[in-house]
Amino acid sequence: MFENLSDRLERSFKLLKGQGRITEINVAETLKDVRRALLDADVNYKVAKQFTDTVKAKAMGQNVINAIKPGELMVKIVHDELALLMGGETAHVNLSGNPTVILMSGLQGSGKTTMSGKLAKKLKSQNSKRPLLVAADVYRPAAIEQLKVLGEQIDVPVYTEPGNNNPVEIAENAIRHAKVNHFDLVIVDTAGRLAIDEAMMKEIAAIKKAVKPQETLFVVDSMTGQDAVNTAKEFNQTLDFDGVVLTKLDGDTRGGAALSIRTVVDKPIKFVGTGEKLDALDYFHPARMADRILGMGDIVTLVEKAQQQFDEKQARELQRKIAKNQFDFNDFIAQIQQIKKMGNIKDLASMIPGVGKAIKDIDIDDNAFKGIEAIIQSMTAKERSNPDIINSSRRQRIARGSGTSIQEVNRLLKQFEQTRKMMKAASAFKANPAKMMRAM
Ligand code: GDP
Repeated sequence: MFENLSDRLERSFKLLKGQGRITEINVAETLKDVRRALLDADVNYKVAKQFTDTVKAKAMGQNVINAIKPGELMVKIVHDELALLMGGETAHVNLSGNPTVILMSGLQGSGKTTMSGKLAKKLKSQNSKRPLLVAADVYRPAAIEQLKVLGEQIDVPVYTEPGNNNPVEIAENAIRHAKVNHFDLVIVDTAGRLAIDEAMMKEIAAIKKAVKPQETLFVVDSMTGQDAVNTAKEFNQTLDFDGVVLTKLDGDTRGGAALSIRTVVDKPIKFVGTGEKLDALDYFHPARMADRILGMGDIVTLVEKAQQQFDEKQARELQRKIAKNQFDFNDFIAQIQQIKKMGNIKDLASMIPGVGKAIKDIDIDDNAFKGIEAIIQSMTAKERSNPDIINSSRRQRIARGSGTSIQEVNRLLKQFEQTRKMMKAASAFKANPAKMMRAM
């Protein structure tokens, strides 16, 4: 995400490296570079200009304390301004109302239907909501079908009215249906078009008027940059929406939409979509995004993701097993599955400060664990819980069964043994870190 922009900004700050203090000249030079980087990232030119003007005013107004180098000071100012540009504070969703109604708007292909499913899933698990999804796209039967498939995956009912071609009526009936059947969250997925179209705008405005949503969200593909900004303007004029959802941030986005939209429509970005899977959805945190753009990682999000998967009882049990050297392949595979649930491996690693840049050109396959899983799955239950019995004939059988080679099986067994030793040492030395450091 935003790799190019991150690189370019870092290079701009280098101009200040070795400079003793901030001067009008070196600031102007740096900011010229920053502005070019923003424009290349498809940031709206007015936004880019305003941004660099503000940064300049702030930089020149600083009493440079000797302890801070000009480069570091500039990074700090740019960081804070980037966060402000994206809204400053984290925006919240309005979940009042019974049922809460969320209306989804946006162009076709923006990721609206997927996002409807993701939101239903998130608000169901994190806010204990009972969601109902509504298919109000009467033009594309495939869209209704797609929502039904998503609903099934997350076990959320989908309200449809085959034969009715009035989306306003469908949405109204859906709300009635929700009230009678005690759904406390209704997410209405509407029809999109490939481009702005008067009829579509009128239709969604009529739906909004009829269902009075607590949240009208505008969904936009973040890969579209400047176009995203123009579309947002048009939708905002008609709908006066409450928040923006940026999708496909996992792709090769340059950052233009994320950085321009807030200023142009003065509406907060509330959610981001970071993948095709239904849990690839995050709240949008401007300061954390600024961290990531400047290559500072995003450790807070990483920890949150880990916490969501964290089960205290399981962790205690695992600790007990490690201490007794009983950590086995069942635990190993359970750990792998937990990591996988946290999301795309490369994205996760990029949240560690400094790592994003280092692994930028490395292709980390999301199936990285596939071979390992296949090997473990080819072990018998006895072998998994007691790896010491895996002798050479068993190794050969496991390699054949998992479609891997004996070398791969050997490698995994060796790594497993090392991990086990390290874990045991760590747990034994926990009370005495100095001793552990010496041992290492
Ligand atoms: P709609 O026409 O607006 O309802 O868009 P869809 O929900 O059908 O999404 C269009 C395409 O984008 C589908 O292939 C989705 O799988 C894909 N998509 C949606 N959100 C994301 C995302 O956050 N990341 C990626 N990589 N793909 C996404």
